Amino acid sequence: DRADYDSETKSICPFCGVGCQISLKVKDGKVKYVEGINGPANEGRLCVKGRFGFDYIHHPHRLTKPMIRRDDAPEKGLNVEPGNWQEFFREVSWDEALDFAANGLKGRGREVAGFGSAKCTNEEAYLFQKFIRQGFGHNNVDHCTRLCHASSVFALVENVGSGGVTATFNEIENADVAIIIGANPVENHPVAATYFKQFTKRGGKLIVMDPRGVGLRRFATHMLQFRPGADVAMLNAIMHTIVEENLYDQQYIDAYTENWEAEKAHLKDFSPEKMADLCGIPAETLRAVARDFATAKSGMIFWGMGVSQHIHGTDNSRCLISLALMCGHVGRPGTGLHPLRGQNNVQGASDAGLMPMFLPDYQTVTDDKVRAAFTGVWGSDDFSAEKGLTVTEIMDAVHDGDIKAMYILGENPAMSDPDVEHARDALAKLDHLVVQDIFVTETANYADVILPASTLYEKNGTVSNTNRQVQMVRPAVPPPGDAREDWTIQIELAKRCGLDWRYTHPSEVYAEMTLNMASLDNITWERLEKTAVTYPSLSPEDPGQAVVFGDGFPRPEGRAKFTPANVIAPDDTPDAEYPMILTTGRQLEHWHTGSMTRRASVLDAVEPEANCSMHPATLRQLGVEPGGMVQLTTKRGTITVMARADRAIAPDMVFLPFAYVEAAANILTNPAIDPYGKIPEFKFSAVKVEAA
Ligand code: SF4
Repeated sequence: DRADYDSETKSICPFCGVGCQISLKVKDGKVKYVEGINGPANEGRLCVKGRFGFDYIHHPHRLTKPMIRRDDAPEKGLNVEPGNWQEFFREVSWDEALDFAANGLKGRGREVAGFGSAKCTNEEAYLFQKFIRQGFGHNNVDHCTRLCHASSVFALVENVGSGGVTATFNEIENADVAIIIGANPVENHPVAATYFKQFTKRGGKLIVMDPRGVGLRRFATHMLQFRPGADVAMLNAIMHTIVEENLYDQQYIDAYTENWEAEKAHLKDFSPEKMADLCGIPAETLRAVARDFATAKSGMIFWGMGVSQHIHGTDNSRCLISLALMCGHVGRPGTGLHPLRGQNNVQGASDAGLMPMFLPDYQTVTDDKVRAAFTGVWGSDDFSAEKGLTVTEIMDAVHDGDIKAMYILGENPAMSDPDVEHARDALAKLDHLVVQDIFVTETANYADVILPASTLYEKNGTVSNTNRQVQMVRPAVPPPGDAREDWTIQIELAKRCGLDWRYTHPSEVYAEMTLNMASLDNITWERLEKTAVTYPSLSPEDPGQAVVFGDGFPRPEGRAKFTPANVIAPDDTPDAEYPMILTTGRQLEHWHTGSMTRRASVLDAVEPEANCSMHPATLRQLGVEPGGMVQLTTKRGTITVMARADRAIAPDMVFLPFAYVEAAANILTNPAIDPYGKIPEFKFSAVKVEAA
């Protein structure tokens, strides 16, 4: 009953990139209930995480006081728990904590690196990259896009001229055919999945491609359960068919693209008949998919981290872009390219320049004019024109002794990085680690100082979802105890590092962002207070463009580019010792490293235990009953975990969620990276599986 609540606040779900609008009902200072409201991406719908996953914000583990590591603390990295934290840290005042944090950072120039967060607002992401660039003169700043869609962004910027989606996922209602590849929206973008299901109900042809038989297969016209790592072979075979059978859109290609002849020539070697064994899909199926996609009036392509998290992740995205371009499936209603973003604000954090090679709006740091435009607004000296180090490169630089101090806001590399022991060793090696977070995360176990921060339910600001929709978040409750909104902590830290930052509200940060971000033209803070706006917005009245690039691309001569891609084998191929293939990902109830959802009572009750999934025949061969324990070993390490039977997993594969610290998937994963997007190959490691 509404009357039972003291207040009601409209905000945005903090989990996935769909960006569902929510209403938070508060009683006696606590959020008691969450319901979906009519946002542009969700129209009132929510999934189990958005609806029931909120009570982590009132969990007793919440950090409420700043803390500094004790001089006599045991070694870094040991598990700090509610019962033993006094052995490691002492509570201090904000002034002492901020002075200590700043003193360990300031004046250290290139020895400092920063990880910001896709869980923070656009304003906080902008302030974070500004802090590293203005405060330390270089670009060693990154965030979890590096582990998520960095390869997709590289390919999109390279070939289309912009890192955002070309069409919202809701545009599927105007499509005739849609490809969903390397994504499991039923679990990872559940509200978007409802639109995908509706699309099939009205007769749309859904083509699902994934090495796992993911949930949407039941709705698919074609389910291509291809061999892991064979994406380029499969996509090139589909494009070969389109060329061979003259199904491409020559008029579109002539008007809006370049490098077509090279692409066409390259595809000659990839006939479906030649590629069928490699990708495990019959040639006739590959040809049927090619015909369905190319001859449709309007087609869309959606992809997830099954595409991006490979050493050939950029090549995978290049293929998808080429496929859409050759069919003219970009720039019209019901057409487009859409990498489904993971974190709720990974789009916004990337747009805000939280990356080592790009300033806000993907303006490159190597361009003197671009840097001058920003330093002009900031009133500061020029900073390095050299692209900075990425997430995994920063950890290597710590081991090499080049990076000695870090500021980590809301990221958890001690759980999320590949070959995580390497990352943990790097964190332990730092002279000075400042962690700003809401819990003592696995990363905070290595901190010298911990700054208690706020959740998305406790702050003001804006976020941008996978659809390019900018939306406002509002505080339903204040942060607990002495915890603070992140942007206020950032400002205090910046001042102590010598920066003249005088913002008093996120709206002032947002106003500064609009000065050098053309994507935000016509999108004022005042507008956002009333409604979500999709960028680009062409006038103060325009709700924004759901589909872009109908009249050309933001590239030379307005032309998108075909970039041919070759087949590259995964880095860590199976052999006699490690004969199976390990792939990692998420599951419906738990979000990323689990720091929030494992403290959400309903979600943890539904899915309380670390698990992996294998085909029942594989379990039988191992002599393990479903629910029994298995030991997984790769060249990086070993974990023991409960095994479930799942017929959707190929017999030579293991699927392992990465949310569980007690069986941390990234102890096993391969740190080899894509050379362009610098994204690790989370989706493919050779693994040995034994009964435990
Ligand atoms: Fe939240 Fe994503 Fe679920 Fe929507 S679909 S409620 S944004 S987790």
